Amino acid sequence: MAVIVPESLESALAALTAYPDAAVLAGGTDLMVEVNDGRRPLTRVVAVGRVPELTGIRVDGATVVIGAATTFAQLERDPVAELVPALAYAARTVGSPQIRNAATIGGNVATASPAGDALPVLVALGASVEIAGGNRRRLVPIADYFTGPKRSVLDAGELVVAVQVPVLRGAQDYLKVGVRNAMVIAVASLAIAVDLEARRVGIGLGSVGPTPLAAPEACSWVASRARWRSDGVEVADEDVVEFGERVAGAARPIDDHRGTARYRRHAVSVMARRALRRCTR
Ligand SMILES: Cc1cc2nc3c(=O)[nH]c(=O)nc-3n(C[C@H](O)[C@H](O)[C@H](O)COP(=O)(O)OP(=O)(O)OC[C@H]3O[C@@H](n4cnc5c(N)ncnc54)[C@H](O)[C@@H]3O)c2cc1C
Repeated sequence: MAVIVPESLESALAALTAYPDAAVLAGGTDLMVEVNDGRRPLTRVVAVGRVPELTGIRVDGATVVIGAATTFAQLERDPVAELVPALAYAARTVGSPQIRNAATIGGNVATASPAGDALPVLVALGASVEIAGGNRRRLVPIADYFTGPKRSVLDAGELVVAVQVPVLRGAQDYLKVGVRNAMVIAVASLAIAVDLEARRVGIGLGSVGPTPLAAPEACSWVASRARWRSDGVEVADEDVVEFGERVAGAARPIDDHRGTARYRRHAVSVMARRALRRCTR
């Protein structure tokens, strides 16, 4: 098997154009599982870990630009922990320390699993995905990125270059239900982000639909019911309960070996209530 290790974005894209059968390799924590299971034969690999344009985290005004090759271990720390706390909380729930040292946010976004832990956070925050392929560059809002289970608008020969995440003033959280407390794929997960400037609440749901989901109706409803102050937001107790039900209504869960649709919907309503209580006063 040939391994190409490009040292620039241009040469990575040239390699993907020259060898359309080549697989992109970042941390390998999804790709190598498929290879080892015999589900993905590899003839050629383009390893993107040394592409400088895919590495590093930069703050650009009110946006954090996170290179695709950034690992979950890096996301646990500043500046992400300070500026996008929900993403740091989500990163801490991914696999084991060994997995977090290898697994990247770009791999999570490219795999586009409904259970990917970074993805509900990106949905709640209204992030965008920077994609490059050939001579084309595009910025895709996360709401338009997923097209189905493990499917996205990312075409063959394209690379996720970075995710652009808005920096919001307001509380954030990430909650994940699994069969145990660590090293577990989500049975259901939920990210919340409060935006005190825009007076908005964002929700992202994982593992309860074919793609990561938003809950726009529940979010507009609770924003209209909340009492917004410059330093926080208050929501009445009965509205917190109603919010939980409305967010659960946005879920599209199925029964599978990890849990039933009924359990998942219930878990979403509990997480939504808990997350909203933690983010409001
Ligand atoms: C033991 C174990 C535990 C895990 N636990 C979790 C968990 O708790 N939560 C969770 O969300 N995930 C978990 N995962 C899955 C995995 O770690 C994540 O999805 C991770 O983010 C994948 O990133 P990677 O860098 O390893 O991607 P890779 O395996 O290198 O690549 C994954 C896919 O994305 C493509 N790709 C990678 N980077 C790019 C790019 N920049 N542009 C275009 N395509 C690209 C590859 O071609 C491949 O198809 C776990 C995996 C293992 C093995």
